Amino acid sequence: MKVFKFGGASVKDAAGVRNVTEIIRTQGQNAVVVISAMGKTTNALEDLVRTYFHQQYSNTQVHLEVIRAYHYGILSELGASFNAVHQTFIQLETYLTQSPKASYDDTYDQIVSLGEVLSTQIIAAYFAEIGFSVEWLDARQLIRTDSNFREARVDWHETKQRINRAVTSNGIKITQGFIGQTSDGRTTTLGRDGSDYTAAIFAYCLNAESVTIWKDVPGVLNADPKWFDDTVLLNKLTYQDAIELAYYGATVIHPKTIKPLQNNGIPLHVRSFLKPDAPGTVIGNSEGHLLTPSFIFKINQVLISLHPNDFSFIAEDNLSRIFGRFAQAGVKINLMQNTAISFSVVVDNNPDRVPALLTQLRQDFRVSYNDGLELITIRYYDQGTIDRVLMNKKLLLEQKSRYTVQLVVKDQG
Ligand code: ASP
Ligand code: MG
Repeated sequence: MKVFKFGGASVKDAAGVRNVTEIIRTQGQNAVVVISAMGKTTNALEDLVRTYFHQQYSNTQVHLEVIRAYHYGILSELGASFNAVHQTFIQLETYLTQSPKASYDDTYDQIVSLGEVLSTQIIAAYFAEIGFSVEWLDARQLIRTDSNFREARVDWHETKQRINRAVTSNGIKITQGFIGQTSDGRTTTLGRDGSDYTAAIFAYCLNAESVTIWKDVPGVLNADPKWFDDTVLLNKLTYQDAIELAYYGATVIHPKTIKPLQNNGIPLHVRSFLKPDAPGTVIGNSEGHLLTPSFIFKINQVLISLHPNDFSFIAEDNLSRIFGRFAQAGVKINLMQNTAISFSVVVDNNPDRVPALLTQLRQDFRVSYNDGLELITIRYYDQGTIDRVLMNKKLLLEQKSRYTVQLVVKDQG
């Protein structure tokens, strides 16, 4: 048994669905296929949740109609049956006619999860249309989670039992990424971009022979082509390197995906759905590490420096207060460095979170900050690559470990 995962970009229109169907038909005869919501549907559903929750009925209606037209458009272009999708829209409309009762995050999960339901219903309908039998599995019945809505944690024991009870025969199974359910039947989601993680959950529970994530890039590259022209495809990557790259912000794989696969030694392939015969990248237990330096760029960073008001040193008591404030504000630290009397951190400059955090921190610290910065992480660096990325940049902070260097820079134009 293999596990395949297709993201939203691969099924954004009828041509995408046909292409994905062809890949499944030719390469996934014995696979669990995890599929995300189509195109930008998750964002559209998020907009819908916001207006519904704030009881802006006419806006809610507008969002609903856009989402409906998009999915119906794809269905009719494919000439596939509307039945299942139609039922899902009735269910959504019924939900929306009641005034919001649950918390925002709970409401979010009940609504946003339907993006994945719709996409898998459309693909299953198209398979039926072309006379190919596939089994549609409801991931909500299989992935058991706690009720930490929007970032639900998996109950591995229960999930493993359920998945193994449901997947017993060979053949093509189609299921939804990103979604699960609590023991009392509330739908949950696993965090944005969580479909990769779903693929890893299925693979781990089934002890699958491999996972393939099909993307619009040829595999894992040593840099994001958005920032670099001459990127190199990495044919092979160790789990450890993949975890490190994802942790520092490489967006090619969701960070939570690798660990379950590593635990069972299941190889993870990253391949292009545009070139389905190319080998792509394989992540696994290979010997040695990368020889090519890899770059990860994060823009819109802010460097915050804290100096205790009372001339105390930066020691455990101050640090625990600082970390507490960051955790409370939901601000993730990308890099930190301390001296005896100051503590510096680099974070994403999120306008919803950072100003409130600064206000909090000013109660105990003198705070200075510097925004509009970039954070460059190089794994397997050498001086040549450091010099190259520092061209036209002013270096504000540098941190080196054996394999990784992080540079906080200001672009000099
Ligand atoms: N549809 C969800 C999202 O866009 C999950 C995923 O695509 O992985 O975040
Ligand atoms: Mg997505």
